[in-house]
Amino acid sequence: MTDEFEVLAFAERQATAYLRSLEGRRVFPDEQALLALSGFDEPLPDEGQDAIEVLKQLSELGGPATVASTGANYFGFVIGSSLPVAGAAERIALAWDQCASSFANSPVADRIEKVAARWLLEILDLPRNSAVGFGTSATACALTALSTAREVLLQHLGWDLTRHGLSGAPPIRIVCPQNIHITLRKVFRVLGFGQDNIITVPCDEQGRLKLDNFPDLDERTLLCLQAGEVNTGGFDPFAFLLPKARAAGAWTHVDGAFGLWARASGLHRDLTEGIDQADSWTVDAHKWLNTPYDGAMVICRHADALSRAMNSDADYARAEPTAQKNLGLEFSRRARGIPIWAALKGLGKQGVAEMVERHCALARRIAEGLSAAGYRVLNQVVLNQVLVRADTDEETLAILQAAQDSGRTWFGPSVWEGRPAFRISVSSWRTESRHADMLVALLARLRQDHSSS
Ligand SMILES: *Cc1c(COP(=O)(O)O)cnc(C)c1O
Repeated sequence: MTDEFEVLAFAERQATAYLRSLEGRRVFPDEQALLALSGFDEPLPDEGQDAIEVLKQLSELGGPATVASTGANYFGFVIGSSLPVAGAAERIALAWDQCASSFANSPVADRIEKVAARWLLEILDLPRNSAVGFGTSATACALTALSTAREVLLQHLGWDLTRHGLSGAPPIRIVCPQNIHITLRKVFRVLGFGQDNIITVPCDEQGRLKLDNFPDLDERTLLCLQAGEVNTGGFDPFAFLLPKARAAGAWTHVDGAFGLWARASGLHRDLTEGIDQADSWTVDAHKWLNTPYDGAMVICRHADALSRAMNSDADYARAEPTAQKNLGLEFSRRARGIPIWAALKGLGKQGVAEMVERHCALARRIAEGLSAAGYRVLNQVVLNQVLVRADTDEETLAILQAAQDSGRTWFGPSVWEGRPAFRISVSSWRTESRHADMLVALLARLRQDHSSS
């Protein structure tokens, strides 16, 4: 067996070599690298293998087949990358291997996550007494938020969910934009909200929920809004809707997976006006804050309600309501708040604002460049998302494919108003003007190559 520290040093060298190779590396792996993945498809060994040999295989076969989404030339989804300080903090926390469920399990994780939670509420300017649960994803965090909402709404309707369960409970209806993120639809399904109880509201051409003929809100309504629509980056009209929802006794949840970070920037904060009046919010760290996966937060104004809904105290494992095991789904969990703390401390308020502003400025630069090259930019570029189309659907799809095949960039398809488009998103701390310009130049050339005229 190789010595523990040699193994770690080997892994560190491989990891560093990978990061050093990012700039020149293909963004999506080539055919050869993908074929080589069959090398992993071997029988489970009877006898243990040497650690260095295991890592060599991982690095040699796995590395070339990675998507370089942590690099500067990846514009797909809103993937973000890992800030050095966040990735490095994660490595230290990995060595600590804390079970970060409560103070008793890990005083250091408990303390650092509480600080990260406080900073988060400050930088996002949300109610300072809110509870913050660090979950694996915006999906998991939305599940915790909406199960809390369900319990509270039912309680207000005189129904004790813990005692009576769902069967026979007064119906709760969901009101949400028609383009609500697919993961929210999954959460609705998992929580037992049927389609018959979901009212979807039409959206305008920027993907924002329209206010005309808006359904009545009442005390059995769970209103779900979006800060940052996935195609356009559009924001729902919080300032108008949230006071009405509050007055009606509805619960409002805001999916701000990436868009909530706009609130950290003085330039973009207007988009989020009124958002602090919601009851719960979800926001990812692993997207726009550029921390490693899996890092996301549920924020709930009603701290007691979240900790009641998520309570997992046992005779052998009791903890205070603010312990993470009482704020999220997991009982055992890694200290995922540590890289988030490190990112916030490493960037500071100004650094987060600057990153958001730089990405938004780059998105505008890309939009202008592509317009000049003859593309149609379909959205008002209010954030870091650019939605683009060529002259015809065939050209749009052919250019998208050619861009992906080039290995020099990657972004994905979407469908907007029934027709194909592509979505370019700027969210990596590594992305600079020259990368944006390279993307524009590449797409300008591809349009000439594929032009039907
Ligand atoms: C990515 C995303 C989600 C889901 O977040 P995960 O962390 O991937 O679960 C939800 N809503 C929006 C708007 C997103 O962009």
